[in-house]
Amino acid sequence: MNADFVVVGAGSAGCVVASRLSETGATVTLLEAGPTDWYPFIHIPAGVRTLLRNKRMNWNYESEPEAVSGNRPIHWPRGKVLGGSSSINGMLYVRGNATDYDGWAQMGCRGWSFDDVLPLFKKSEDYKPGDSSVRGKGGPLKVEDYRTILPLTHLFVKAAQEAGFTFNADLNGHSQEGVGYSQMTRRGRFRGSTARTFLAEARGRANLRVETNAIATRLLFEGTKCVGVAFRQNGVDREIRAAREVIVSGGAVNSPHLLQISGIGPAEHLKSIGAPVVLDSPGVGANLIDHYVIRISHRVKDLVSLNNLARGPRVVAEAIRYVVTGKGALTMGVTSAQVFCRSREGLASPDLQLLFTPASSDPMRIGELEREAGMTVAICVVRPDSRGTIMATTTDPTAKPAIRPNYISAAEDLRVMTAGFRHTRRIFAAPSMAQHSAGEIAPGPSVESDLDVADYARRAGNTLYHPVGTCRMGEDPRAVVDSRLRVRGIGGLRVIDASIMPTLTTGNTNAPTIMIGEKGAMMIREDSGLAA
Ligand SMILES: Cc1cc2nc3c(=O)[nH]c(=O)nc-3n(C[C@H](O)[C@H](O)[C@H](O)COP(=O)(O)OP(=O)(O)OC[C@H]3O[C@@H](n4cnc5c(N)ncnc54)[C@H](O)[C@@H]3O)c2cc1C
Repeated sequence: MNADFVVVGAGSAGCVVASRLSETGATVTLLEAGPTDWYPFIHIPAGVRTLLRNKRMNWNYESEPEAVSGNRPIHWPRGKVLGGSSSINGMLYVRGNATDYDGWAQMGCRGWSFDDVLPLFKKSEDYKPGDSSVRGKGGPLKVEDYRTILPLTHLFVKAAQEAGFTFNADLNGHSQEGVGYSQMTRRGRFRGSTARTFLAEARGRANLRVETNAIATRLLFEGTKCVGVAFRQNGVDREIRAAREVIVSGGAVNSPHLLQISGIGPAEHLKSIGAPVVLDSPGVGANLIDHYVIRISHRVKDLVSLNNLARGPRVVAEAIRYVVTGKGALTMGVTSAQVFCRSREGLASPDLQLLFTPASSDPMRIGELEREAGMTVAICVVRPDSRGTIMATTTDPTAKPAIRPNYISAAEDLRVMTAGFRHTRRIFAAPSMAQHSAGEIAPGPSVESDLDVADYARRAGNTLYHPVGTCRMGEDPRAVVDSRLRVRGIGGLRVIDASIMPTLTTGNTNAPTIMIGEKGAMMIREDSGLAA
């Protein structure tokens, strides 16, 4: 087998890269470890809860138990299906803050300032209501407002204003700060994964080949040039050669893992697991950054929450409503409103995201809704200082790597988390929320002092599923890829996915990763002299 370009991983970024490269007429083969996205609950937005632990379409990783987060493994879902994590995620569309990208440029990443990346966000997007100076129209990625909003969500937005946060009509518009309603990557009543948007548009092209159930097992080198990929498909080992480039888009866990088992990584570690050393690249698997959240939940006394709509005769009524009108609870994702705010005065941009869900679950069993009505705010430190690692433990391509996120190990992260906890309690205490609350059920009023909050964070915090940074972009010696996403020291190889982010963006990571896919594909086209 051969192709001009071989893309490993059909996720948020990989589908964009394969789609945009195939526009040029070059031959592109996209290898995806998981199956096609046939499973109906991928496409019905409310089906998201059934995907969190799905055995066939999810890698279901776990972090190593670490003292900083209560010595417990934390479940790390990642999509293993066409569309990757965009097929199993909460569908929130959040671009991040302009200062995130300006910060990347200041760190030496040439061409990544907000002014540089805004045209790419716009190129991807189709959001009808937005101001067209900042929002895109007519792109493959459909972004929509919620079709049905429960009264509890409106009350949260009102209560946040009562607590002093300004209303923001478009959290992806000119300013990110304040309280506003969520936007979703949804096409009408269906999820808008990158498989059902970018890839679906490209699938008719004869020069694009998509191979599912095809796990890349090793990158192939001639000296320090990557020339192809070995992969296993339905139990058969095969190889594909790339005439131009190999692009690794396996995500923040699998991209560093594939590089390491192929011989690109910290030399001492590679030797310790018996991997060849093609290039000593100490940054591969380092700089792991993730969003860690704690939750405050309240029992709701007199209004309907998703807990009620998700069971009994009401779920049947919602299913009929969905089929007949394309509206109702089944079109909802997880977070219906958000606040972007600051932990202290004097910061240049928000360092906290408070995510409101008109539902509640046991903090240790996220996604399993309680019987009685509830509502929850997840408190997220959006630009954490803590850093962890992802390291292969054997050369077996199917073995899970060791994930050590090192959550809240930086004292500053706990300070910001505690500030977010207090902001959230103020919102719940505001009149519009307080009158419908039957009391805080998690963590409960006994958690009060800073030490209590830190203890709660260690025993009950969770990932918000946004790992990045493990193949960090930069121009310094420890950077894995350069500003054009080429693996430093190796020819014919780029990494294009969430793993290249040097720092986390202010908010959820799907939209930024899609932008990275757009920019990566654009740079390949420029560098290869292919049609712009
Ligand atoms: C449960 C969950 C909820 C989330 N909610 C949101 C949200 O609401 N909003 C938001 O903005 N972000 C959300 N995110 C995060 C967001 O979806 C991710 O940041 C983004 O999808 C990452 O894109 P990626 O291209 O880096 O990796 P992925 O989308 O994970 O794609 C990687 C792909 O590569 C494939 N692959 C990996 N290794 C190999 C191999 N060796 N061979 C072949 N194929 C391989 C994988 O199977 C996968 O399909 C969520 C994530 C999860 C898991």
